[in-house]
Amino acid sequence: MRCVWKNRVPVQVGRMCYSSSVPTTKLFIDGKFVESKSSEWIDIHNPATNEVIGRVPKATQEEMLAAVQSCKTAFQSWSGTSILSRQQVFLRYQQLIKDNLKEIAKIITREQGKTLADAEGDVFRGLQVVEHTCSITSLMLGETLPSITKDMDSYTYRLPLGVCAGIAPFNFPAMIPLWMYPMGLVCGNTYLMKPSERVPGATMLLAKLLQDSGAPDGTLNIIHGQHDAVNFICDHPAIKAISFVGSNQAGEYIYERGSKNGKRVQSNMGAKNHGVVMPDANKENTLNQLVGAAFGAAGQRCMALSTAILVGEAKKWLPELVDKSKKLKVNAGDQPGADVGPLISPQARNRVTELIQSGVDEGASLLLDGRSVQVKGYESGNFVGPTILANVKLHMKCYTEEIFGPVLVVLEADSLDQAIDIVNNNRYGNGTAIFTTNGATARKYTHGVDVGQIGVNVPIPVPLPMFSFTGSRDSFRGDTNFYGKQGIQFYTQIKTVTSQWKEEDSTLGSPAVVMPT
Ligand code: NAD
Repeated sequence: MRCVWKNRVPVQVGRMCYSSSVPTTKLFIDGKFVESKSSEWIDIHNPATNEVIGRVPKATQEEMLAAVQSCKTAFQSWSGTSILSRQQVFLRYQQLIKDNLKEIAKIITREQGKTLADAEGDVFRGLQVVEHTCSITSLMLGETLPSITKDMDSYTYRLPLGVCAGIAPFNFPAMIPLWMYPMGLVCGNTYLMKPSERVPGATMLLAKLLQDSGAPDGTLNIIHGQHDAVNFICDHPAIKAISFVGSNQAGEYIYERGSKNGKRVQSNMGAKNHGVVMPDANKENTLNQLVGAAFGAAGQRCMALSTAILVGEAKKWLPELVDKSKKLKVNAGDQPGADVGPLISPQARNRVTELIQSGVDEGASLLLDGRSVQVKGYESGNFVGPTILANVKLHMKCYTEEIFGPVLVVLEADSLDQAIDIVNNNRYGNGTAIFTTNGATARKYTHGVDVGQIGVNVPIPVPLPMFSFTGSRDSFRGDTNFYGKQGIQFYTQIKTVTSQWKEEDSTLGSPAVVMPT
């Protein structure tokens, strides 16, 4: 469903076209929100109704070049501002985000579909990163070592890289952009942001708030688009580092193309997160945690617990798991009491329902089927209700692929060791959780699994910003992670100074041709 505009006249592509009254998403270039001159536009839909609610341009080459040029120019002065001035911008920014949190959340629910309460959580978790940037005066400290030899000291500075860029996914329209540009900017870089073309609204309001906080023109520029915009970012020589979050298909490509061009790239990608349920766990608490983490945000979280491994006697808890899941209310995200909103698009809905069917065809037991859920008043929305596939085996497609929908696949294991093997043999290593009341079991698990984020009786262990969001195996490419100390490392380079100041004059008598020892 896409319209191509030729000479400012809309041409129908696919099934649908819009009137010119549909609001357009602006570009943010050099401190101005400007209408794109592009002839190619992408529709933005409300996932609860599939109505077209806006259009986003595929920025032209000239517009993208202007955005990078603006970042380059702004870097000259921004990188030289005092660290205290940058800190002040972010102190004001965190307050403005708090003041506008509900407004940003409303935009998220309209474009992305998640419930309003969950959308507020999306903004809040990003806000925490902004709050953390306010500690930049400590975070950017270098190291010193006095007297490495007589009269000689060594110290390091952390310095910004230049122009950095971020490419974001649709599932956290506020949190993930806020993992990116605030960290980059506070270190003294300037930033080119490409939000997901499906949910650009939150980033645009956040950009306005950043400007209102006193960030100078050109420090943040925003372009929109898909492949051309991504290729532009991977190829432009002025861009020194790329932060990507999204699917493996895009992330592996961007990692490779960006790295080949000599850029730093950090790439957070797909997931298949396992919740290991031990028979000694607190049953009520565990089942509630599991249901919330599997179906919250309609399963469209990279940290969703999309796979349960029931160990030993915990297998008997399946009927209660199904009962609790059935009770969740599927509805449009802005409706009171909604627990599970729609999926992002009809294509996503089809993909999820096909993966459910593949599980059935391969012999899994469909204990709860959300495929035919009807939401009154929202019959055209992309809804799938909570779905549980049990007796799932390791070779099944519903297990090997990331579903990214409200589908919990359930495996069984006879022992903790077997559960650890299952987790470690999956291609992804993003997040996992173990539910147990035994400390030794928890310790063995946390040490034994090769996964970035591990929860012990915590279903979605997204690290707070003083730590870093990591990931193992196919969930991550790169060597320096998002936010926390690693985020500062990613967005800075180190300069090491070795200096000698002698009190007495001891001028070298001859050239020192031998390596100093
Ligand atoms: P996506 O890869 O489709 O899109 C992400 C970004 O890449 C968008 O800005 C998009 O325009 C661009 N893009 C899409 N396809 C591309 C391609 N073929 N080549 C170049 N660029 C492309 O991802 P999505 O559907 O928006 O997000 C869902 C995915 O993100 C899931 O796989 C989820 O697990 C993952 N995710 C991971 C994390 C994490 O921290 N590990 C967090 C959130 C989401």
